[in-house]
Amino acid sequence: MRQWHRQRADSIRSREELPAGFTLQPGEEEFFKTVESPSPRKTIDFCVPRYYLSLAGNSPGDPIRRQCIPDVREFDRLPWEDADPLHEKAYTVAERIIHRYRDRVLILVTDECAMYCRHCFRRYFASRAKGALSETQLQEGIRYLKAHTEVHEVLLSGGDPLTLEDRRLLHILEEIRSQINRPLVFRLATRTPVVLPARITTELAAALGKIPSLFIISQFNHAREITPESGRAVEKLTHAGVPVLNQAVLMKGINDSVETLKDLFQGLLDIRVKPYYLFQGDLAPGTAHFRVPLGEGMDLYRRLRTEISGLAMPVYAVDLPGGGGKIPLSDTYLEGAEFVDGRLQYRFTGPDGKSYFYPAEER
Ligand SMILES: *Cc1c(COP(=O)(O)O)cnc(C)c1O
Ligand code: SF4
Repeated sequence: MRQWHRQRADSIRSREELPAGFTLQPGEEEFFKTVESPSPRKTIDFCVPRYYLSLAGNSPGDPIRRQCIPDVREFDRLPWEDADPLHEKAYTVAERIIHRYRDRVLILVTDECAMYCRHCFRRYFASRAKGALSETQLQEGIRYLKAHTEVHEVLLSGGDPLTLEDRRLLHILEEIRSQINRPLVFRLATRTPVVLPARITTELAAALGKIPSLFIISQFNHAREITPESGRAVEKLTHAGVPVLNQAVLMKGINDSVETLKDLFQGLLDIRVKPYYLFQGDLAPGTAHFRVPLGEGMDLYRRLRTEISGLAMPVYAVDLPGGGGKIPLSDTYLEGAEFVDGRLQYRFTGPDGKSYFYPAEER
């Protein structure tokens, strides 16, 4: 058994397994009472690796704690929330295969995760006992990719693809590569570098490094998740030649301040991870207590721009409810066009609040 297997088996899955001295807050207590009642009407999975929990503090609002310890507010439902907020089911072209953007296909390779994030938007799928992608489903996906030559990129997600054994994961990648006779970019979305860094073994990193154009997308949401352990996990990947990009989720009380985001994104650059997206919270049921009002998010983003380098800036984006797709919420600074000095000019408000002009040249 590998170290990461042992750590997964030793993960905390019930309140009895929480370390001594870890006291639950009332909202957390109430969550466990609800799911542990003799005939629970509601269940939501709980699992946290001991490593990740060890990063958590004991205060109720601790940013690590809130991402891993469930709260009774997860049972709340707002009328505008949707179990499948991105309408992924509508874009499902074969079992576990989602094709929403012309050139990119998403494959849900497993429904298991090393940790069940309390803010997860893919609740309808993650931890729903669907297990891993079967060989039949894989071959069906490959047939789809063969027929759809416009697809240039394959995203592996779930669940967390790195809960699969190396052999299975590499088989999926190799099967796709050997049967599709055109260059493909692979993206593998995983939280394991953050929540179970032991999963990133030197052998796995080396094997992934041999696949041309494979990118890892991590999910660091707070600078305190950047530790010697997660730093080493990322180092193994980058050392093996695998670029690592990060998708963070903007969350109330966790990272919704300029200082916190600055520490996170600069800290990521320090370990050579490029911040790619900062997501506005999706309208998944039971996640309202994590959502930051969109206008506030835009204001934060604008202020952040003046504080950190462009390299550290992710794109702030929202995945439009109802399947509209991802759109950047980045402030463009463009106010309109007007005649200045006898010429039509675009008017911008600079980060300093002053007006600046760029001429509207003709072709
Ligand atoms: C997010 C997403 C992608 C990738 O979008 P990018 O903007 O290229 O990062 C592809 N397919 C689906 C279904 C997605 O949700
Ligand atoms: S690892 Fe990803 S899919 Fe799994 S619970 Fe966390 S956010 Fe959801």
